[in-house]
Amino acid sequence: MSLDDVVSAIRHAERRFERIQGAVDLVAVSKVQPLKRVEAALVAGHRRFGENRVQEAQEKWPLLKQSYEGILLHLIGPLQTNKVKQAVELFDVIETVDREKLARKLADEIAKLSKAPELYIQVNTGEEPQKAGIFPKQADAFIDLCRCDLALPVIGLMCIPPAGEPPSPHFALLRNIAEHNGLSKLSMGMSSDFEEAISLGATSVRVGSAVFGERVAEGP
Ligand SMILES: *Cc1c(COP(=O)(O)O)cnc(C)c1O
Repeated sequence: MSLDDVVSAIRHAERRFERIQGAVDLVAVSKVQPLKRVEAALVAGHRRFGENRVQEAQEKWPLLKQSYEGILLHLIGPLQTNKVKQAVELFDVIETVDREKLARKLADEIAKLSKAPELYIQVNTGEEPQKAGIFPKQADAFIDLCRCDLALPVIGLMCIPPAGEPPSPHFALLRNIAEHNGLSKLSMGMSSDFEEAISLGATSVRVGSAVFGERVAEGP
């Protein structure tokens, strides 16, 4: 596939599943992709990108942001509390808020820097011990803490379903939690399952290899 193919497939899925045209944003996941592929997407007019490491994003995006206007950068990987300041400075959206310590640190840095990225809470819908994200049964209380106690600008939820399982039940669970907490944004769906995610209410899909080609190397 390519950027154009993925955009067409998203528009097609919106029609097929009776979603509003343009309701679904494409976050083009540019982690570990060669710079020339990323620049080709920028030249083609794409502006919304996802990175999973703060440091890698810092090496790539400040310069690109000087050359191309209107770039929107999403952090989609785990965030360490010692990188929160850098993350708040660089990212427009942080999708991986998943624990109290991180939420408190985000509230501190947002107050200090007077700059607030939009936030998603990551839910570990599969309750996988090695994976980031708040467990579903703790989600309501955590969402409440973030929004009410810390006044964080939480706009939605994000999940990464377990590998090797049908993703649909996880997408449906995420939507459920969002609905009963009054959150309108759902970041779910990757190269292999973004159409399914759109059928279940995704407002944002995170697609890497289908946009840019296979990643040349995974980071450490
Ligand atoms: C890498 C990554 C993606 C994109 O994966 P593809 O299968 O290449 O589309 C999406 N979400 C997260 C959190 C990722 O780390």
